[in-house]
Amino acid sequence: MAEATAWEPVPRSRTFELVLARIEEQILAGNLQVGDRLPPERELVELLGVSRAAIREALRVLEAQGVLRSKVGTGPSSGSVIAAMPSAGLTQLLRLHIALANFPLADVIEARATLERASARLAAERAGEEDLARMREHLEKMDAAGLTRESFNDHDTDFHVALAEAGGNRFMADMTIAVRNAVRHTLLSAFHRLPEWEPVASRLRSEHHAIYEAVAAGDADLAGHLAESHVRDFHQDIALRTRADRDPSGRDVPKL
Ligand SMILES: [Zn+2]
Repeated sequence: MAEATAWEPVPRSRTFELVLARIEEQILAGNLQVGDRLPPERELVELLGVSRAAIREALRVLEAQGVLRSKVGTGPSSGSVIAAMPSAGLTQLLRLHIALANFPLADVIEARATLERASARLAAERAGEEDLARMREHLEKMDAAGLTRESFNDHDTDFHVALAEAGGNRFMADMTIAVRNAVRHTLLSAFHRLPEWEPVASRLRSEHHAIYEAVAAGDADLAGHLAESHVRDFHQDIALRTRADRDPSGRDVPKL
């Protein structure tokens, strides 16, 4: 017989999780959609038979997840509104989980390479003039002489965000952006460990230009291939080689 597991009392402070579950049910059932207003706190207290504190805690969690936006005031437009999940919420969540090493770095790189390839393919098929102009803007900023490693990394991130958005698929773009943002710090640390920055910067510049050219020419195969290689090669040649915290077994110790 299996060892008996002791019974633990249910913590009373967990009521807010039940409130969360109720709100989630309404969203999944389609009763609450983007732009809809939640019933006022007072009404939720009555509807759900819980304390005001539990309602407030649940609303705070949903706000942090980017699902709710609260509008201050007392008029008809005040209260909590269901918001479309912005990439910021997703980015924050992924960044924390990656930082906590819940995902091995190799898995993160593989996912990022795959996402960037798919995003670049979509961009080559769908990018409009405005999208291309936005990508060019970030390329030009990266081309500026005497850029610090921090600024380069910022424009590099912005270029990848513009590339992902040019594909026109919001979900793909948000995931690509979230993963790129999540590795922002790892990349910057790698930049700082490089003894010689300029040769690397110029290699990255020309890779970005090549991706842009393939997207502008509408060549999805080439754009996808270049974007994936850009991510894989960087991590292989630079980020991993310059890692100070490499495990002697050869396994990566994620330390983002
Ligand atoms: Zn890049």
